[in-house]
Parts: sequence; C-alpha cells; structure tokens
Amino acid sequence: MVRHVIVGAGPAAINAIETIREFDGGASEIVLVSDEPAYSRMVLPYYLADQIAYQHIFTGDAAYFDQLKVQTRFGRRVVCVQPSAQQITLDNGEELPFDTLLLATGSSPTIPKIPGADLPGVYPLWTLAHTEAVLQAAAGRPKPTAVLVGAGFIGFIVLNAMYKRGWVLHVVEREPQVLPRMLDRESARLVENWLRQKGVTLHLGTTVSEIQPLSPPDGSRVPRKQLRLANGHALEADIVILATGIRANIDFLAGSGIVVDQGILVNDRMQTNFPNIYAAGDVAQGPDLLGGPPAIHAIQPTAVDHGRVAGANMASHTVRYPGSLLMNILDVCGLQCASFGRWHDPQAEALTLHNPQGPIYRKLLWTGDCITGAIFVGRAQDVGLLNDLGMVKGIIQTQTSLKEWKKFLHDNPFDIRRAYVGAGVAAQLAKTTLLGRPTQPRRYRYLNQQPQPQITHPAAHQAYVQSRVPQ
Ligand SMILES: Cc1cc2nc3c(=O)[nH]c(=O)nc-3n(C[C@H](O)[C@H](O)[C@H](O)COP(=O)(O)OP(=O)(O)OC[C@H]3O[C@@H](n4cnc5c(N)ncnc54)[C@H](O)[C@@H]3O)c2cc1C
Repeated sequence: MVRHVIVGAGPAAINAIETIREFDGGASEIVLVSDEPAYSRMVLPYYLADQIAYQHIFTGDAAYFDQLKVQTRFGRRVVCVQPSAQQITLDNGEELPFDTLLLATGSSPTIPKIPGADLPGVYPLWTLAHTEAVLQAAAGRPKPTAVLVGAGFIGFIVLNAMYKRGWVLHVVEREPQVLPRMLDRESARLVENWLRQKGVTLHLGTTVSEIQPLSPPDGSRVPRKQLRLANGHALEADIVILATGIRANIDFLAGSGIVVDQGILVNDRMQTNFPNIYAAGDVAQGPDLLGGPPAIHAIQPTAVDHGRVAGANMASHTVRYPGSLLMNILDVCGLQCASFGRWHDPQAEALTLHNPQGPIYRKLLWTGDCITGAIFVGRAQDVGLLNDLGMVKGIIQTQTSLKEWKKFLHDNPFDIRRAYVGAGVAAQLAKTTLLGRPTQPRRYRYLNQQPQPQITHPAAHQAYVQSRVPQ
C-alpha cells in the first residue's frame, strides 16, 4: 500500500489529506506529523477579539482523522529528511518511511534583536500558545495598553482584534508609512489618518531599541513595560506584539539535498527537486500567477490551493497549478484595505481615484489591457467597494484582456460591474476549477459537531490538551 507522509497540520496539510482521500477513497496509508494540533492560525485574531469559541480554532480532531484513516503523530517535530532512503526522522528518534512526502511546515515569526524581547508580555502573535499568552497578560486589566511593533499585514490583523477589545493601542513602524508591503504612500496616508481618528497612536519611521520591565514581577501579573524608541520617545505598555516579519520553516532540511531559496522551491505540481517530495503553503516557493520568479505568498488561499494541488498529484493525478496571486485584504478598525498582484509595479500604467475626505482610494494598474495590480481603501459600509474589489480580483485572476472596457473604466472608474460582466470575466471564472472538477463539500471537523454559539472553553481545552499528548 502506498504510504504518504505529511509534515505540518495547517491548512496546506489538511487540504492535501482531504484531496488524497477525495481521489483514493482511503486506499493509501497517510501519516501526519506535526508539533502543533490541527488548527487555523487565520482565526486566532477572532479568538483574541472574543468573537469565536475556542473549539472553532481547530480544523480536525481524533475522530475526524480516524474517519479519514490518518495516523497522527501530534507533538512531534521532524528533524531530518533523507530523500534517497525515503525516510524522515522525528525528534523522538522514530523513523518513518514514505513513498511520497509533503512538507507543509509553514513559517515562523522573526524576532527582532531588541533587549527585552523575551520578557513576559512580549510575544509575536503567530500560534495558539502566543494568543493564550496575550489573553493571559491582558487578564484582570480593564483597558490594557498594547504596542504593536511592525505595521504589516499580520500585525494589522492583530491590531484590529485588539481594537475590537477596546485596548489602548500604539504602533511602532520602522518605515515612514503603515503597511509598506501592501499599500502605496497615498493610500497608506488615508489609513494613518483613519487610525489616528480611532485613537491609535502611530510612531512611524522609528524602531524599538529596548524593552524594560517597569516593576519586578509579583507572581500574579505580567509586569508593565517601558519601551525606548530610537527617536528618543518612551512608551509604557502591558502587552507588546512583535510583528516584524516571518521566514519559512526550512532549517530541518539542511543537508537533505532538497533545493531551497527563501522557501522550498517547487514546480507547478508542487514537487521539489525530488519528484516524490512535495511542498505546500507558506514554506513553498512556487509559481506566481502573473509570471516571474517563484514566489512565496504566505496567505491562507495559497496554502489551500497548494495543498489541494499537492494532494491530487500525490494521489497520482497530474494537476498543474497556474500559480498563486498575491492578495492582502484587511479590515483596519473599520476601514477596508486590499491590494492584489503587482500593486507596486512602476512599469504599469496607473488609473487612480483619490478622495481623502471619503476616504476613498482606488488604483488599477494596467499592463496593456489587462489589470495586473490594484489597491482599494474605503469604508466598510461601502458595499460597492467590497463588490468591486471582489470583481477586480476575478479580473486579475483570469487575466482577462479587457479591450474596449479599459477605456470604459477610465471614463467610469466606479462601474467595475459592467466591465466585469461585459468582458466575460464571470463566465470565465464559473468554469475555472483548481483540480478540473468541482470541490467536494467540507464537513465540520472538530468534536463531531456543528459550530456552537457558546464558548465552551474548559471542555474544548481538555480535548486540546489530550490531542497534544504524543502517541
Ligand atoms: C494571526 C494570523 C492571522 C492571519 N490572518 C490571515 C488572513 O486573514 N488571511 C490570510 O490569507 N492569511 C492569514 N494568515 C496567514 C495564514 O494563517 C498562513 O498563510 C497559513 O496558516 C499557512 O498555512 P500552512 O499550512 O502553510 O502553515 P501553518 O498553518 O503555519 O502550519 C504549519 C504547521 O507545521 C508545523 N511544523 C513546522 N515545522 C515542523 C517540523 N519540523 N515538524 C513538525 N511540524 C512542524 C508548525 O508548527 C505548524 O503547526 C494569518 C496568520 C496569522 C498568524
């Protein structure tokens, strides 16, 4: 019987497993190894904001994996991969042979070298354990003060969650603007003004040089801290969130012969330089939908697509991935921000609408008569904005040649719907499938039940703790 070994239990891995089972109906052996339980990082901010129940973080429990005939090794790390021996080694010395191997180990936050970055109450917000630690540090404080270090995409998702909690918020960013890898200068300015109106204090163009505890720990509470900034200012905080970047989890591949760059290099079937070893998700550097060198797009939709393409190919069905699209969609304290594709391309022809009073910002970037990038900023209640950004995403994804609709959009920049329908984008999207067939409906995968509105923390916590016991 063919044996698939899958490393990591994030969305890339879970989608690969489900796809293998969609194709083989249980005819192969699957072993899943992960140091964390199966859950979605993307929902952690909703848990932090107290908007979802604890059990809704998880994407699979023991019953779910039994049903899919998956043997699990949770709480275990892979420390060595030997492609020629077709075997991996776990941190407890166990050796697992494989016919195919999927590396879906995700990425980890990079921690800046700041004195005090290891103090209690100073965390990246990347894992469930980090989220629990932040909630713990906030416990018992009616209105904690939090400092976000790094004004990027993930940091701002966390900022939004803390804003919903009503915390006092500061942002420190090295660059002179917020969201430097998502928005251009003009659109970022709108976001900065919006944040100031919402009471968030911005410290741009500076860095944190030191974090010091303000009082000795009394054992009951995480001590308050003082942050010294490079511009000479000082801040006090209960919680510090470090969101200064991420890097692919590839260290365990040293000496394996698997070719890596920023991540693991893969082809359009998600294969590494060893055809029976695949990589998917944040760790994989693969085809970019808009062409150019292999890219890491560390976002959930890419992890899901990668996982499904890898799973199909592991199950011996040749499926080629057209490539991932860079897209970031954010709610910044009620202001919607999105950018797609080559939003920063200096060669592209730009059509820009800018109304600081709105605030409204729309920028379409053209290569010939195709839209290859876009930026949107506008209020959440502007339904037109949300529809339009969805349609522009479809136009970019299909790379539809808009022909005469380009001139139309130039004259009527708010009438995207007409161009979308007229150029046949909707029809093209409707027949697009990743695997060449419709996706199967998904079931809820935790505690064998439908999502409940109540927060049932203690029981779910018990299940979580049990799931972490190494088998
Ligand atoms: C707070 C937060 C909010 C986010 N919000 C969004 C969002 O709104 N939209 C969006 O598109 N994306 C969002 N993301 C990003 C998204 O969560 C990631 O792109 C996605 O989780 C990547 O999935 P993955 O399966 O590749 O890796 P992961 O989900 O990181 O899973 C990889 C797993 O492998 C484990 N692992 C690593 N090394 C080993 C090893 N050697 N042995 C065993 N196990 C190992 C890891 O511990 C981890 O559990 C967010 C991320 C965070 C942290």
